[in-house]
Amino acid sequence: MKEEIRKLVSLQDLDKKIYDLNKEKAQQPALLNDIQVEFEAKKARFKALEEARQKIQIKQKEKEIELGTKEDGIKKTQGQLGQLKTNKEYNAKLSEIESLKADKSIIEEEILRSMDEIDTLKKDLDAEKKALEADELTFNEKKNVTLSRGKEIDSTLKDLDGKRTILAGSVDKKILGSYEHILHGKEGVALVKVENTSCGGCFMSVPHQVINEIKMHERLINCDMCSRILYLEEDIQA
Ligand SMILES: [Zn+2]
Repeated sequence: MKEEIRKLVSLQDLDKKIYDLNKEKAQQPALLNDIQVEFEAKKARFKALEEARQKIQIKQKEKEIELGTKEDGIKKTQGQLGQLKTNKEYNAKLSEIESLKADKSIIEEEILRSMDEIDTLKKDLDAEKKALEADELTFNEKKNVTLSRGKEIDSTLKDLDGKRTILAGSVDKKILGSYEHILHGKEGVALVKVENTSCGGCFMSVPHQVINEIKMHERLINCDMCSRILYLEEDIQA
């Protein structure tokens, strides 16, 4: 039994590593997704800013066309002044011109304001573009690190699985069966040391009677609380 426990200690060492690596591997898709989502959000912010700039530019073009129309209107109306017969008609035309001129200066102010807005947005966009380029580098770097870690995990797992197959093949079938049954239900830890009379798995106190039973090596001894197989470090070294 002592020899079997020794083999289980080595097997447990491998199984813990295998369990942890599989767990890390299982988290990778979520990790990659988080990285992707974070970068997409940054891209979306930049796109929104770019769209805002385009909208203002389109509005400005429209205002420029409107300004041209007003200017044409003023010229045309001024041209009509000479053909008027009465003072009343003349004054009416003048006030029409004044009104067109007032409209024109409102449009001019609007154009100036939107030019300022475009300037500010352009500065923001330039800064955001630089930030986004840096973000893209970071994104690619994080992605590559995660992917290469994935490959590393795969190759380590392949190596550990090979070692495990050989080692498991040397353990008594019945003992291996009990061990593996516990292993699957206990997050990769089926065999634990008794340390200072406590179970190394659940930390509950192990009675002296049980410790004596472990030393007898007649059968596998499990923790009453967590069912893990118990062993004594000093015992297997002796
Ligand atoms: Zn326990």
